[in-house]
Amino acid sequence: MNTQELWLAVLGELELSLSKANFTTWFHNTFIVGINESEVTIGVPNLFTKAWLEKKYHREILQSLQNLTNQRLRSITYRVETRPTAIANLHFEDAITQELPKTLPEPVPTINAQNPSNSEKKAGAETTPVLLTPPGRLGEFTLNAKYAFSNYIVGKQNELAHAAAQAVASQPGGAYNPLFIYGGVGLGKTHLLQAIGNEILLHNSSARVLYVTSERFMTDFINAIRTGQSPAFKNYYRNVDLLLVDDIQFLTGKEGTQEEFFHTFNQLHQNNRQIVLSSDRPPKAIPALESRLASRFESGMLADIGSPDFETRIAILSLKCREKSFLMGQEILQFIANTVQNNVRELEGALNKVIAFHHFKNMVPTLETVRPILSSFHATSVKRTVTAKQLIQTVAEHYDLRIEDLVGKSREKRFAFPRQIIMYLMREEMKSSYPSIGAEIGGRDHTTAMHAYDKISSCISEDEKLQHDLELIRQRIYTT
Ligand code: ADP
Ligand code: MG
Repeated sequence: MNTQELWLAVLGELELSLSKANFTTWFHNTFIVGINESEVTIGVPNLFTKAWLEKKYHREILQSLQNLTNQRLRSITYRVETRPTAIANLHFEDAITQELPKTLPEPVPTINAQNPSNSEKKAGAETTPVLLTPPGRLGEFTLNAKYAFSNYIVGKQNELAHAAAQAVASQPGGAYNPLFIYGGVGLGKTHLLQAIGNEILLHNSSARVLYVTSERFMTDFINAIRTGQSPAFKNYYRNVDLLLVDDIQFLTGKEGTQEEFFHTFNQLHQNNRQIVLSSDRPPKAIPALESRLASRFESGMLADIGSPDFETRIAILSLKCREKSFLMGQEILQFIANTVQNNVRELEGALNKVIAFHHFKNMVPTLETVRPILSSFHATSVKRTVTAKQLIQTVAEHYDLRIEDLVGKSREKRFAFPRQIIMYLMREEMKSSYPSIGAEIGGRDHTTAMHAYDKISSCISEDEKLQHDLELIRQRIYTT
């Protein structure tokens, strides 16, 4: 096996364990530069890929190389290098369409903007970097300065899209062209697209950045035809440095819009101008999209965004509170994060409702005041949320005990054990912190809560009655 074959075999293994988006993104244009019995050097197209492979895939790559060579390989060096021949494209052939040149153009370090003439600039528009002014009413001025990288929270579900967006912002027209970001509604696609635009304008205020929705592109195009302004339209869209097209899934074939977009895309791409697209699903899954466009969109980098996990939701809420200088207790943040689980837009909406209400009434938010405000969100959340009070009440009913005894001082086993169950469930179901659990249960110390949690956790596997009790209590919590 020569090094090319070896690397193809490694890629074959890695491909099985990675999503297509990840695989294409990180292993396109990689190859083995050299190998001896303990060390391998792998050529990568840019520093960004180098960093990512070192950080994320090093172990898998090493493992795979060891398996395939039966050697005690110890280390891998990743080096930025252009592959000698067109070999490794083999694996990516299907992603790259025939019409594009096989060798991608060299990345350009920064966008090479031609100065827009001053007459095109709006007077007084220098406060925020502004998009180039279109002739007539083409395009949109919708880059919003509030969308930045600095206020984008990164979690597992969006780290690929975020990293790719940053790479594009620092090297537009480089290795990731086009960048195609996809994911469900309210997950931060528009935020990332605009952050790229804002970042590029920050470093080069004369860069010609255009942000449009695909619908806007379509209406601009159709209007241009109707008013005999097709040349102005083409001239405008085909001469930008960065084209950001949001919600490309709405691009229809109406009156040749897809055809026009195809040519716009090709022209920009051939000139190393960066294109970034967003969609609610991957290119091949957009029903009305012509396949030659889908292939184009897949030829650069695909990155998906998923729903934020609990930690990310908390981080987003904390950030938004800081931005609004509004103080909110951890418990309230956790309650909101538990109630609204699906997407960031809803999460923000919920927080804004809570802030507005308490700001207006000049009150400090408590669970009692926040719960009714968020009641409308229950329908959409994955699981109903529960409060400490409900939980204590439910456990009391289940064991037929009085609440005062459960949170009281008595150490009798018939009280102490259900009390520990409450603390366990507060941790499991409400994600409460140990200090707040202790505080809810008669002002106990956080170590008591920790002990209770550990105790119940370790009993569960042995104790069938306990399993059954927990099951019934949970049912009661979430159904009544
Ligand atoms: P999409 O375009 O995917 O529907 P948006 O980009 O409009 O979603 O995001 C919805 C709202 O959530 C916006 O206000 C955005 O700033 C915010 N948002 C989304 N993701 C994040 C994140 N990771 N960190 C901070 N804010 C976010
Ligand atoms: Mg959007």
